[in-house]
Amino acid sequence: MIILDSTLKSARILVVDDNLANVALLEALLEDEGFEDVTGITDSREVVSLHIAQPFDIILLDIRMPHMDGHEVLRRLNEVRAVDDYVPVLVLTAQTDTETRLAALENGARDFVTKPFIRAEVMSRIRNMLEVRALYTERARQNTLLEAMVAERTGRLKAIMDNAPDVILATDAAGCITDFNRAGMQIFHRNMTGQPLRTLFASGTVLPDTGSAKVTARRPDDSQFPMELSLAPLRDGGAERVLIGRDITMRKLLEDELTWLASHDPVTELPNRFALRRMVEQGVADSGGGMVLVAILRGYHRLGDLFGAAVADKFLRQVGDTMHQLMAAENAELGSWGDGMLLAFVRDVQDAATADRIGRVLHDGLNRLWVVDGREVALDCRVGVALAPVHGSLADTLVRRAALAASVGEGVRLFDDALEAEAAEWNRLEDALRLALERDELRLLYQPKVELATGRMCGVEALMRWEHPELGMVSPVKFIPIAEETGLIDSFGAWAIGQAGRDAAAWGDLKVAVNVSVRQLDKPTLMDAVQAVIAAGMDPARLELEVTESAVMNNVEDAIVALQALRALGVGLAIDDFGTGYSSLAYLSRLPLTTLKIDQSFVRDLGERPESTAIVNMVLGLAQALDLQTVAEGIETAIHAEILTRAGCVLGQGWLYAKPLPAAEITARLRTAVTGAAPS
Ligand code: C2E
Ligand code: MG
Ligand code: MG
Repeated sequence: MIILDSTLKSARILVVDDNLANVALLEALLEDEGFEDVTGITDSREVVSLHIAQPFDIILLDIRMPHMDGHEVLRRLNEVRAVDDYVPVLVLTAQTDTETRLAALENGARDFVTKPFIRAEVMSRIRNMLEVRALYTERARQNTLLEAMVAERTGRLKAIMDNAPDVILATDAAGCITDFNRAGMQIFHRNMTGQPLRTLFASGTVLPDTGSAKVTARRPDDSQFPMELSLAPLRDGGAERVLIGRDITMRKLLEDELTWLASHDPVTELPNRFALRRMVEQGVADSGGGMVLVAILRGYHRLGDLFGAAVADKFLRQVGDTMHQLMAAENAELGSWGDGMLLAFVRDVQDAATADRIGRVLHDGLNRLWVVDGREVALDCRVGVALAPVHGSLADTLVRRAALAASVGEGVRLFDDALEAEAAEWNRLEDALRLALERDELRLLYQPKVELATGRMCGVEALMRWEHPELGMVSPVKFIPIAEETGLIDSFGAWAIGQAGRDAAAWGDLKVAVNVSVRQLDKPTLMDAVQAVIAAGMDPARLELEVTESAVMNNVEDAIVALQALRALGVGLAIDDFGTGYSSLAYLSRLPLTTLKIDQSFVRDLGERPESTAIVNMVLGLAQALDLQTVAEGIETAIHAEILTRAGCVLGQGWLYAKPLPAAEITARLRTAVTGAAPS
């Protein structure tokens, strides 16, 4: 390093000599040379305190002096100097003996000039020493800087360590903890510095040398928690280690929760479809067979609409719990397949008799009055059973087949191959039925209603047919349920009312009855269709809507509201198939009815079973009390007609009078009735 002249000039110089003349001489020389800060003293005892007060850049020191010689001054300077401090002493001495020189060097002198001195030599040595001194000063400054940097770095690292959420620790080569961060103290409840690393873990824990692992950590109070950690050497090839670890209690809980959720239905807390697949297939594989029972509660889906999803969920859970109790003795595994389908799987059992017995336990236990949201609800329970391996060994197949058996049967039904053919036909019909209306395949036939006493036609009932290009005329008994299930019934029903209106335009004041499915009652389509037919000119008093008794009684409160709105338009309302639907009298009187139709099952037995006559009499009495008309259905014989007439029934319909006929035929009959011609 080159020292600038100005720096050199301002160097602090001390001259120490007991001889004042020497001091003065040197002072003069130095000032002459350009040095600006020169102090001269003759009492060597002042040197140390002056140097402490403000350090000199160079001290020109005589050796032989009274009170304190140069060697002693050097020793004292040495004592007070800071470590690494450079004691800038240039010895000026007349002694040239080696001993003196060595002693001076030993005490820290840096250089010598022999008196009497040569000016150029003294100046050159002073300059050299000042340069070295400057180097030392610079080095010391850099050291201080470096130390500050290191301290700052260390502080930052510590802050980072302490603010990390993970345990961070270091160990020495012997495996003892040397550094332990704040998270570590929080997680382990104590500072573990100084402890062997293994005390942090459950006994028997094997830690990897490097890499990561999931282990069980242990606190000094013996409580344990799961920890995920990674270990690495602190430096390459060294035996010290740094460990970063994380308390994964929460994550494990979450993982456990997720694992549980992945295999369970949260509503019923039963194994879900995925778990069931494994359970069933494993069970079938292990035991060589088994049976799958599917319980379906018809009407369960309506609960959601009526009470909301939360109530429906609660109900399903209640069903699941009940199922649990019912199947406790049967060694069955339970699950929730989804979509309201609950499932029981029994290993080993493959015989139909046991399947039927267990199915019945399930059915009879679930087919009961449930209390949902404080209201009593009766849901029709159906149980379908499929046996493995005869009906399949895959869970999906077994469940599908058991569900199919449940959906077609009443009570308990075991799957058989014919069911699948039935279902396939149902599906084919369903596909074709969707196109029936737009392909103009729906027809209406009209069955005359007659005055029993005279045989005079006083009305007709419209009965729907589906003219399928290949199947021919399809009975409504076959396709109306499909139309109801698929929702097609709304458009079919509206079409029927419109068509009946158009056909009836040519029939004077003849009354026309149209059948209405209960599924249509709460839809605006029905109301719209009735209003449209009235708007088109039909007298509402000529139109009558027939609703089956059992359908109305299923949801009587809603039916009352819908029927009242229809009745307000002036149309007549008939209860169809009366006597089969367990009407309560209380409800019947609240329905805004005009007509009761005595079901054909009673008419058929008239003259054979006395009970039927009694029922017919009872219905007639009831109708009279409620001021309703009665129409007897399915009159096939003169005996039926006679008994009915005697009982006081005025109106009826049946093959005895006419089968359902095309509209043109009704038109023709009306014409002949007017002209007096005999019916064809
Ligand atoms: P329903 O309303 O009780 O109609 C009476 C059924 O008895 C009709 O069967 C009719 O053809 C039949 N029938 C009439 N006289 C006799 C007889 O003397 N002996 C016997 N054994 N049967 C007789 P159909 O036409 O097959 O209709 C069956 C059911 O389909 C109807 O029963 C009705 O509930 C439903 N249905 C028919 N058309 C429609 C419709 O347009 N809409 C709705 N929603 N349902 C309809
Ligand atoms: Mg009818
Ligand atoms: Mg009927």
